[in-house]
Amino acid sequence: MNRLFRFWWFPLVLQVMTLAVFVLLIIDGFLANTDDMAFAQVLRNTNLANLIVWSYWWPVIIISAIFFGRIWCMVCPMELLTSLAARIGLKQKPNRFVRSGWITTLFYISIMFIGIHTLSIHRVPFRMSIYLLALLAVTVIVGLLFSKNTFCAYICPVGHLLGLYARLAPFGWSTGNRSICSNCKDHSCTASANVYVFQGRSCGVGLDPAHIDDNTNCLLCGQCVKSCDHNNPGIEGRPNPGWFVRPWFKDIFALKPMTAAQTAFCLVVSGFTVYEVFTEWKVTKNLLLWMPDNVNMWLGTGNTWSHGLVKSLILFVFLPAIVWLSPYGLFRLAGGKLPIKKFLCIFGIAFIPIMASAHAVKAMLKTTSRIPYWENAFPDPVGVMTARGILDKSLQLACIPAWREPVVTVLSLVLVCCGIAVSTVAIHKLTITHIHNSGHRAWALYLIPGFYGGAFAAMICMWRLNLM
Ligand code: SF4
Ligand code: SF4
Repeated sequence: MNRLFRFWWFPLVLQVMTLAVFVLLIIDGFLANTDDMAFAQVLRNTNLANLIVWSYWWPVIIISAIFFGRIWCMVCPMELLTSLAARIGLKQKPNRFVRSGWITTLFYISIMFIGIHTLSIHRVPFRMSIYLLALLAVTVIVGLLFSKNTFCAYICPVGHLLGLYARLAPFGWSTGNRSICSNCKDHSCTASANVYVFQGRSCGVGLDPAHIDDNTNCLLCGQCVKSCDHNNPGIEGRPNPGWFVRPWFKDIFALKPMTAAQTAFCLVVSGFTVYEVFTEWKVTKNLLLWMPDNVNMWLGTGNTWSHGLVKSLILFVFLPAIVWLSPYGLFRLAGGKLPIKKFLCIFGIAFIPIMASAHAVKAMLKTTSRIPYWENAFPDPVGVMTARGILDKSLQLACIPAWREPVVTVLSLVLVCCGIAVSTVAIHKLTITHIHNSGHRAWALYLIPGFYGGAFAAMICMWRLNLM
């Protein structure tokens, strides 16, 4: 990989390819539309674009971030477009609010609340294409307005989520020899003269490759390798930056606190992962949706917008807030001392491994359950005829492979147990570092893996092992 980064065409050629695929997916999505949500339930799996975007692309980038870091960002077509737009744009410096990360959090919340739970962009291919097109438009507009790579650094919610999960990865961006960077005279990797060089620019997201110590923000774009290489004054060991193996969960155990915006983002995602996994099984689905359904009934929210909004607020804000604050409340009741902001931004880190493992479980469930749809996906990429055939039973889908059930069950249990174990170790390290006078009361904080992680473990055991 590190050798590949030195070529001018890498990863540019992959970005161009993903851009072409992106455009084809948008076109295919535009060809399949419906307002009938029962039909959309089937169409979402028979339309090739929808099948790829929601059942394969999204799950695969989640898993890739956990194991490899933000490698999706390396090939992302948005990074290419926004960087190109920034070369000809106004180059305004992003203000404090943009840099705070709150736009990313609000962007993610609006996609969840309005896009998914109100407009069903994940079920209606036509709406998905509008969403993808809007994303491309935002990418280009942000590129035209702001300097460097503002979109990837402060706005993209996908990259932000991948950055959180990348904290677990056993690979990361770093430099081969720190002393070469310490003695470096040109600092080409951060020099403002190189910001808009097409290939070999200085870091667009404001990182200093010489001091990168975590995976959260690096796009793995490799531009700093090229810039270090192109401006090499003949020093052995350059280009110095690269992609290296490192200990698993390094950034989690480094206990680097999250910002307030990251914490809010993380809280919403923690609710989303519960929703994603619990709705796979009828029993937990009914349990989870009991409150939003009843509140909606009680409020009489017949309208799709208010219904979706109330449901999202309960599932992604209210319930996760209870889960996050219960351990803290018990800790305080037991006499422990810790400011709430510190708890949320620092102990919130312990949710990440469990969220990531639950997201990976969902990814496995989704990708494997959609295997039977591939048989008809290429002969009928629009998917309307196939969906009709499935609904009127003139078309029979192939069976799900026999290996799926045992493999998914075992891997799900392993992943969730790993998530709980990593979270428990993180809590242990956090209590040693941050709880000084209330150490014996720290048991309450272990309820983060116990309660949140335990819920996933119990659900998977009861469902997959038929314990209920
Ligand atoms: S990465 Fe290369 S250009 Fe950047 S400081 Fe180190 S040696 Fe200098
Ligand atoms: S540190 Fe290097 S690889 Fe990472 S985002 Fe900056 S330029 Fe790209």
